Order: sequence, then C-alpha cells, then structure tokens
Amino acid sequence: MLAAVTQAPGVMVIDEVPEPGPPGPQDVIIRPEIVGICGSDLHVYSGDTGALSGAPSFFPRIQGHEFSAVVEQLGGDCPGEVQPGDRVAVWPLRGCGRCYPCRAGRANACVSLELVGIHRDGGLQQLLSVPASQVFGVGDLDPEPAAFIEPMSIAVHALDRAGIAAGQQVVILGAGPIGLATVVAATAAGAKVMATDPVAGRRDLAAALGAENVAWGSDDELLGEVRAWTGQEGPPRVIDTTGDPAALAQATTMVCSAGRVVVVGMSAPAAPLRSGVFPEKEIDVAGSSCASAADFFTAIGLVRAHREAIAALFSHRFPLTGAREAIECVANSPAGAVKVLVTLGGRA
Ligand SMILES: [Zn+2]
Ligand SMILES: [Zn+2]
Repeated sequence: MLAAVTQAPGVMVIDEVPEPGPPGPQDVIIRPEIVGICGSDLHVYSGDTGALSGAPSFFPRIQGHEFSAVVEQLGGDCPGEVQPGDRVAVWPLRGCGRCYPCRAGRANACVSLELVGIHRDGGLQQLLSVPASQVFGVGDLDPEPAAFIEPMSIAVHALDRAGIAAGQQVVILGAGPIGLATVVAATAAGAKVMATDPVAGRRDLAAALGAENVAWGSDDELLGEVRAWTGQEGPPRVIDTTGDPAALAQATTMVCSAGRVVVVGMSAPAAPLRSGVFPEKEIDVAGSSCASAADFFTAIGLVRAHREAIAALFSHRFPLTGAREAIECVANSPAGAVKVLVTLGGRA
C-alpha cells in the first residue's frame, strides 16, 4: 500500500509500505479518508522539534494526526462501539499512565505522550492500526468535516482551560484553523468573541463563524480596537492561537486585571515579557496541550452542529501522492489558504 513517509527533515517521499496485517485484540484497522495538515505537521516536517514536547527522534515517520477514516477490521477484544464500515475520527493521544499529569487525569499533558501522526505513524497511508480506545464514531458526518474534529478538540480544550462563562468577552489572537475552531467553540459556549488576524479573508471567516468583532493593526492599534469593544479594563479572557512568541506579551497587556490568558499556539523561540504585569494585574496564564477524550466527544458534537459553516475552511485539497505539496502549501500559505487537506479516497 502507499504512504507518504517523512524520511528526514524536509524529505517526504511516496513509498510502498507493508500493510498493517491483522489487528491486535484491542486494535482497529482503519482506512484514512481525509487528513488535515496543520502547523505542528510543519514543525515535524521541517525538523523544528523544539516547538513540540520532547520526542527524541521523529524520523522516519508517516505523518497525519487530524483525520477521518473508515473502520476495516476489529480486533477480537474490541468493545464494539464501532463496526466495520463506520466512519470514525481518531483521538491521536496516548499517555504513559504513570506520570503525574496522567495520574491526575490530565494525560493530554503527559510527560511522554505519544500522538498518532507525530510520535507514531499516522493518517498519510492507506491503512493503519490504532487502539480501539482512540477511535470515535462520527455518525453521518462527511469525511471532510470529520477530519476537523481533532483541531476542534484543541479549541474545546483551550476553552476548558479558559473557563469561559456565557456572556463573557474573549479575544482570540489568530484566525487560522485553530483560532477559527476556537471562535466556533467559544460562540457555542455563549461567549462574545473578538478575533484578530492579519489576513482579511481569515477575519471574514471568523465573523461568518460567529465573532462579534474582528480587527488587525499595530499592537497599539489592536489594543485600541479591543478596548473600544470591551471598555478600558480589557477582556477577561484572551486565547492565543498564533504560535507567535510575541503574542504572549500582547495578550498579557490586553487582558483585564484578574483575567486569564490561555496559550495554545506552539513555538520554540523566547520572547521578552515584563514579569511585573503578572502581580500588578493578578492575571492567570494557562497553557493548553492537545485534548482529552471528553474534549474529543464535545468536538464531535460541535462539528456535527456546525458542519456547513466549517466547510468554508477547507481551502486546498491534494491527493496522497501530493502530500509534500500539501505541507508546502501550509508552509507558504498562499492567498486564501486556511485548512489544507489530503484526500485518500476512503472506502476501498
Ligand atoms: Zn493539528
Ligand atoms: Zn504520562
């Protein structure tokens, strides 16, 4: 069968690889249909592993952690929640079960977590075996929106970390796929949303997905726009989805006293930050890593409820043989690029 194999940083080839063979007793063989490409795929592809929590070696790796698939075969000891022919989405995360975050019920922050498509082989191949516990049925969802459940689960977890209340004002920095998913999830939670992004088309999408206000400009101009919306004290919640290290300083300046900043975007470089802002404003800063299984369930419901609106995010499609072009499309972000997909054909 065919797979897109990332052999080394910047080297992805389409190659014949062995089929997975019969499933282990608690595993499921699935046939990927649609794989979304995201910023963390780009980090792996380019060897920028400093931005991802410490895996020693990623290569060779079959990437793809946001995907829909069809169940082909169940292992002999699977719970039967899904059946052959069912469409599923894969919750890519597996914790070690032994470290402090795992024992505290937060395997998404496991010190040695393994993600399908990053630490283990993922969706950019025609068949793969995954534990049944990581496979979630999606009902009658089409394959493209089903591939957006994983990014939506990232947004759901960020909102959980933000502790948003209905009616609360939240500024979402960045209107890429994760920022836009956060707009959907926050709006559904009853929050009032303002989104910022330099790209006009992404601001338009944020507005179409429910953002009350969108803006862009210099740091000072953005601060002015935000305060015109919230009043002088600023918003009680700011969620950074940009992956730009400078955004943390911007978020802590923007957020109101006693407010909370959530950082979702990943980046390796350091950025200067005035530490006095924390005690002066008594702000909380929370990181948000991956998503729990409960977040994944919530994300399935959100994508099901907003499938038509979410379809506007799918901007580019490449066949499996064009997986490298798909990654390069995310890297170059041509005009109009939002969510880039690889289509594998699905049902045999
Ligand atoms: Zn992703
Ligand atoms: Zn762990």
